[in-house]
Amino acid sequence: MNYYSTNGQSKELSFKEVVIKGLPKDKGLFFPKEIPALPASFFAQLPFLSLHDIAVEVLKAFVAPDIPEENLKKICAEVFTFPIPLVAVEEGVYALELFHGPTCAFKDVGARFMSRCLQAFAEPDQPITVLVATSGDTGSAVANGFLGLENIDVVVLYPVDGVSAIQEMQFATLGQNISAVGVEGTFDDCQALVKQAFSDEELNQEMNLSSANSINVARWLPQMVYYFHAWGQWKKLNPEGQDLTIAVPSGNFGNLAAGLLAYRMGLPVTYFLATTNLNKIVPDYLANGVYRPAPSVSTIANAMDVGNPNNFPRILELFSQELEDLQQVVKGFWADDEAIKHAIRHLYQTKGYSLDPHGAIGYLGLKQELPKLGTQGIFLETAHPAKFKESMEEVLGEEIELPAQLQAFMGKTKQVTELPNDYASLALLLRQKHKVGTM
Ligand SMILES: *Cc1c(COP(=O)(O)O)cnc(C)c1O
Repeated sequence: MNYYSTNGQSKELSFKEVVIKGLPKDKGLFFPKEIPALPASFFAQLPFLSLHDIAVEVLKAFVAPDIPEENLKKICAEVFTFPIPLVAVEEGVYALELFHGPTCAFKDVGARFMSRCLQAFAEPDQPITVLVATSGDTGSAVANGFLGLENIDVVVLYPVDGVSAIQEMQFATLGQNISAVGVEGTFDDCQALVKQAFSDEELNQEMNLSSANSINVARWLPQMVYYFHAWGQWKKLNPEGQDLTIAVPSGNFGNLAAGLLAYRMGLPVTYFLATTNLNKIVPDYLANGVYRPAPSVSTIANAMDVGNPNNFPRILELFSQELEDLQQVVKGFWADDEAIKHAIRHLYQTKGYSLDPHGAIGYLGLKQELPKLGTQGIFLETAHPAKFKESMEEVLGEEIELPAQLQAFMGKTKQVTELPNDYASLALLLRQKHKVGTM
């Protein structure tokens, strides 16, 4: 499959090229040249297919010919190793639990898939250095996704005093090919350093730098897989069910863009809900047609504190830039912290189910919209509630236990390189690592 840029000013590239490059020169987003329609027979079988088999079927056209089907099967066998169950929460309302992976968040899926694709393209004499800036969760998913891969080094830049203890443990205790670099600055400083490294032509000639942020096609595409799986599981439970709405807690809108790509391939979902916290740029746009990015506002659903959603251009492209067509399928919803806390308490007290602050927004969206839409609903539970231990304990007034995956990080030793907030120091560090890697 070839990919073009949504800004239309860069040339078409292959899957391999777009995975390595990440971003087109014209600063648009890579988008597949064709969207293959899946046959009715696939949807008839879907309730009975494994995640692995769904993944191979829906992804093969997008990665061919750079990743042949045999290799794709191997990659999917390594990526989709944990369950993604659909859990009934209330009458006609289901949670798709995306938090059973190594770092307990849905980003595990994209990060693991991207890592294996990149590895398929890395050569022993041309190692790849993945540089990523994180305010917490992306760094842990990427670091764990890439852990132990040959010919790939990962450098995670993070604000040394700006991430939670548990987040830091998830990427700073791994060792091997993962380096944690604590920058004496803010997340924005880390992002600026990464940007400067990518625009440093001399450095880029000496080494292969790659980014693993959420706009990379190899992180975006595999997220489709669990939408197909969710529909299949729902159909199994509701063989007569016709209409379904999926609510997606959104920040950068990569996850929703993947759901809508699945829709374009034929997934028979009736509506999607674009659900956000107070950073309601997209719900506002869907309501009044004005797209107005704004500085981000802090909320307790902090992985969604995004004021300028970087994947949104893909959603417009999926609807050929037609707002009215988009509005037919995607409805907006947003919630503030009070509503989130209320939902968490309510569902815990009535059903014993723990929502995390992000999933809670999807749940609230369904509660408000389903009566109007007249469908059943699935909301995505994007992270394990224990990842937000402090807020959860405050809301529920009781202690939250860490799941085994997260517990495992806590006893380990941190290995952190501290770095002044200064580009020359970063360039030196990258050159030193590269030299060691190729010796
Ligand atoms: C990243 C993240 C989101 C937002 O996903 P996008 O693809 O950026 O819209 C939602 N919830 C959690 C827990 C996340 O980590």
